[in-house]
Amino acid sequence: MKIAIASGKGGTGKTTVAVNLALALEDVQLFDCDVEEPNCNLFLGFELEPVEEVTCLFPEINTDKCTLCGNCADFCRYNALAALPKKILLFPSLCHGCGGCSFVCPAGAVEEKSRSIGIIEKASSDASLKFFQGVLNIGEAMATLVIRSLLRHIDESKPAIIDSPPGTACPVLAVLGFADYCVLVTESTPFGFHDFLLALEAAKALKVPVGVVLNRDGLGDSRVEDFCRAEGIPILLRIPNDRMIARLYSEGIPFVKEMPEWKEKFEDMFETIKFETIKALAFKSTGVQ
Ligand code: SF4
Ligand code: SF4
Repeated sequence: MKIAIASGKGGTGKTTVAVNLALALEDVQLFDCDVEEPNCNLFLGFELEPVEEVTCLFPEINTDKCTLCGNCADFCRYNALAALPKKILLFPSLCHGCGGCSFVCPAGAVEEKSRSIGIIEKASSDASLKFFQGVLNIGEAMATLVIRSLLRHIDESKPAIIDSPPGTACPVLAVLGFADYCVLVTESTPFGFHDFLLALEAAKALKVPVGVVLNRDGLGDSRVEDFCRAEGIPILLRIPNDRMIARLYSEGIPFVKEMPEWKEKFEDMFETIKFETIKALAFKSTGVQ
């Protein structure tokens, strides 16, 4: 079972939930897909080793063959190529490596080269928690490619917890499209509610069942909760605005390690997720709720 931990915006406690859930369970895998800023390991402190270099093809224009017809620049929907009067300019960070420019070049002037855009790393220890993270090289835009490479390392025989990037853009959709269940972490504030709705819409569009974790519960108002009740979305867990939890977070310590009562709460949450996933699968195949 693959559980995505997502949020409509950064700073809601998504990584905290992913790390604490992973540490509360036995024999699970944790994947940090926030490849622009992976930070699960700040709390885990594993020694990491590289397991894969993620590469992307990009075009190189052979100026001897190029007739400056402009076909390639016209074709590139990512604006990675610009046709100037005397040369074709390439903006490598915008290139998605689709290979289309080489296909439409009538002069055979586009050669495809490979470049590194990121790396996949894993925890070198043999602990019961298997940890992997993807790291996108600075200045690169192809987060989705790194995420897809990272998710190929999932062992399907074990539960996988996937810390997704924040927001609702392509990298998040790549994770949600892969997940069996989505845990949306949110705070019950006006801004939190707005971003929560956007993330919920994305999960719904991809037909992924959703449950909610209310972080810093007690701050703000009841709008997320009221909405969830009206829509039949389960509240899986409430993490209070607790001084001890905040202190442990600021020290980089997962609170499940120091507050053992939370282990059981995360285990219960996992059991609810299993139940909700099975229910959603049954509904998908039979149409009966
Ligand atoms: S490979 Fe695709 S994205 Fe890259 S420059 Fe060519 S057409 Fe554009
Ligand atoms: S399509 Fe080929 S020939 Fe035309 S401008 Fe691009 S590289 Fe040059």
